[in-house]
Amino acid sequence: MARRAVVIGAGLAGMLAAAALSGAADEVIVLDRDDLPDGPGHRKGLPQGRHAHLLLAGGLAAMEDLVPGVSMRRTLLAAGAHDIPLGSGIVSHTPEGWFRRWRHDGPRLLACTRALLDWAVRTAVLDHTRVELRTAQVLELTGRGGRVTGVRLSTPAGERELDAEFVVDASGRGSRVPHWLESLGVTDIPERTVDSGLVNATRVYRVPEGAERFPLTIVQADPYANRPGRSAMVLPVEGGRWMVSLAGTRGGEPPADPEGFLRYTLDLPDPLVGRLISGAEPLSEVHLSRSTHNVRRYPEKVRDWPEGFVVLGDALAAFNPAYGQGMSVAALGARFLGEEVRRGGLGAAGLARRAQRGAARSVDAAWAMAAGQDVWYPRTRGGRPNAADRLVTRYSRRLTKAATGSYRAASTLWDLTSLTAGPGRLLHPGTVLAVLNGPLLPPLQGPPLTVEEWRVLRALERGAG
Ligand SMILES: Cc1cc2nc3c(=O)[nH]c(=O)nc-3n(C[C@H](O)[C@H](O)[C@H](O)COP(=O)(O)OP(=O)(O)OC[C@H]3O[C@@H](n4cnc5c(N)ncnc54)[C@H](O)[C@@H]3O)c2cc1C
Repeated sequence: MARRAVVIGAGLAGMLAAAALSGAADEVIVLDRDDLPDGPGHRKGLPQGRHAHLLLAGGLAAMEDLVPGVSMRRTLLAAGAHDIPLGSGIVSHTPEGWFRRWRHDGPRLLACTRALLDWAVRTAVLDHTRVELRTAQVLELTGRGGRVTGVRLSTPAGERELDAEFVVDASGRGSRVPHWLESLGVTDIPERTVDSGLVNATRVYRVPEGAERFPLTIVQADPYANRPGRSAMVLPVEGGRWMVSLAGTRGGEPPADPEGFLRYTLDLPDPLVGRLISGAEPLSEVHLSRSTHNVRRYPEKVRDWPEGFVVLGDALAAFNPAYGQGMSVAALGARFLGEEVRRGGLGAAGLARRAQRGAARSVDAAWAMAAGQDVWYPRTRGGRPNAADRLVTRYSRRLTKAATGSYRAASTLWDLTSLTAGPGRLLHPGTVLAVLNGPLLPPLQGPPLTVEEWRVLRALERGAG
């Protein structure tokens, strides 16, 4: 009998999980309830696609490992994505002051629309593996004897069952996995939510003439000021556009009206984002997203977890998007699944449990960063800082402070935020020394812009009147 794997959801986690399984299964079928666009287009099942998405170095590396022979970076750059070095290509105001821009580039991130990224990944997987995509909504899992054996699905032609030796749930934040498993007798999957009430507001602008090379600009939120967090980012994406994303926690939510949107950016601790966009031409409405709380499931802790079934991507853990980690964590989880499958094949006893444990490890680092900071906002639900949080926070704030004026501290921070190094790096002797030494250079009094960038900024302000 043919060995079939089924993946629920054709988002990033789903397509990458399918790639991971494709070497071991005779047939991999990805099911999505959406009709997927032929090109890089927005779609209903991916509402977050209207918002800015950063692809971190750790995530890109995992994606490229999963589809060997394809340079995702080259494909995305050819389609207009921006390649941004963390060391020199970002202007960032943090709660501890302005970060410097260094001569060394450090790790890079890719900036493009989510529509382009999904299309590039989907095309790479479909062109280079035997994965097949079908339009269908999964209604439930089927299974017996401690094993998931397939799915029940709905198509315009009616409902039917599809058997599979292995099933992956990659159906995103709205996954019904607790409910699906309950009907197979698996109950009480531990779950934790940390909800700062964050709202994201995004508007797309045409990049003003002359500002094409202006760096990615961020004014970060301050979780430690006992006030709602407020932040803004100008992200260059393909097609000569800026995606301008604002984010505010409960009590500090950004508005959806255009005037309020601009005012919000100008009222931040530094008005740089507002100064950049005040004269720029908007190309879209303001889009809001409220699907931003941190929520994590712990399937690795369930004693009777079924064989033949794994949960990945946002269905496993979804984060406050301010940290730009969700897609990369999804890719790391899929890569781990691929490694396990290569080792023992699809039918290996305990595969699901081992893959789930591995995926949990990639979630840990991202969760510590996102939930670990969100607990500090005054009206966050689902957690307050405990003694351990206070200790870790004191240390990581000192690291951030040091990074404003120490290359070694800055490069540690880049590796951690790029998910190319795990939390263990925090206690590396070099890191501890950099933290103890603090910033070696004096704090910057304003944004670290080049002479040319200052000229562009002033010209934009004059143009805005
Ligand atoms: C405002 C915002 C900004 C973000 N910014 C970033 C960022 O900068 N960097 C980053 O890495 N991450 C970011 N994220 C997170 C990122 O969007 C998610 O981590 C990522 O989409 C997870 O991918 P996924 O494949 O798990 O889920 P999704 O992308 O949500 O895909 C799930 C898929 O499953 C399908 N589906 C659902 N239910 C069914 C069903 N029953 N049957 C069949 N198909 C089904 C859906 O149609 C969809 O295609 C952001 C999120 C938000 C909300």
